[in-house]
Amino acid sequence: MAQILDGREVSAAIKETLKREVSAMVDAGMRPPHLVAILVGNDGGSMTYVGAKEKACHEVGFLGSVIRYDDTVTEAELLEKIDEINNDSQIDGLIVQLPLPSHIDENKVTLAISPAKDVDGFHDVNMGRLTKGADGVKPATPYGITLILKHYGIETAGKNVVVVGRSNIVGRPMSIMLSGPGETGNATVTVTHSRTVDLASYTRNADILVAAIGKPGFITGDMVKPGAVVIDVGTTRITDPSKKAGWRLSGDVDFASTEPVAGAITPVPGGVGPMTIAGLLANTLLARKAGIAARTA
Ligand code: NAP
Repeated sequence: MAQILDGREVSAAIKETLKREVSAMVDAGMRPPHLVAILVGNDGGSMTYVGAKEKACHEVGFLGSVIRYDDTVTEAELLEKIDEINNDSQIDGLIVQLPLPSHIDENKVTLAISPAKDVDGFHDVNMGRLTKGADGVKPATPYGITLILKHYGIETAGKNVVVVGRSNIVGRPMSIMLSGPGETGNATVTVTHSRTVDLASYTRNADILVAAIGKPGFITGDMVKPGAVVIDVGTTRITDPSKKAGWRLSGDVDFASTEPVAGAITPVPGGVGPMTIAGLLANTLLARKAGIAARTA
């Protein structure tokens, strides 16, 4: 039976540490970190994620607020608001919940956020810094994954890691972090994707397998090396009449067939999701500290 890597528990422990830091900051007469989220439209998933982020901010003593727009908002209006927040010294972090309606260019919006306030770590400047191994914010989901690996003392150095998926928000930065130097790096990483031929021949050799595909139950137990660490990033809503909401979240890993084979595994829900929030909060505190340092330099 695999060890369950409990994202809720680890995230709660990280939040306690952050809460103590914020409390010390406030005791020293400083303003707590302030995170603003922009939410466009009424997508159920996006509303849930933003709500969870706002709640987590308040739990650790951050100021957290959400600016909501109808999905008819224009790109110009959104860019104007981002510019206003970029210039507001009372706000340390800004996230724009994706996806955005099709008439808005997501890349343009991502690049409009000041790199200093980009606590999702999606801006080209922050991605570039990550690639070069410089300090700074890191994309929240892969960052959260490194935090859970660290918490459970899972060694990455010298390990054979396979990342399935090459998106800019998960797979690609994950591969950069795990293959770079540092505490949760120094792995030998293979990045796979939809054009990979014979995917299972790669996944079966992985000591650590990260699945970020968006296809429920795609990775099955026969694709996993016995004893491997399996990180399931996938979160897809699938219809489930037995649930009150009529749906449930499914990961990219078929838990029933994989759990008996793996050495350790993250569940969905309760694995990577809470760790993403922990990563976002840690980035926001970092942005606040960098802001203080810049003003006192
Ligand atoms: P994405 O942008 O759609 O990327 C999916 C990746 O999977 C692509 O690189 C794609 O390859 C690859 N892929 C698709 N079909 C494949 C196949 N048959 N074999 C191998 N690779 C395949 O998705 P994403 O944003 O990375 O998100 C992935 C999943 O993670 C989604 O379920 C998302 O909801 C979830 N997620 C969860 C969190 C969290 O906090 N838990 C955060 C972010 C995302 P190509 O590049 O060749 O198309």
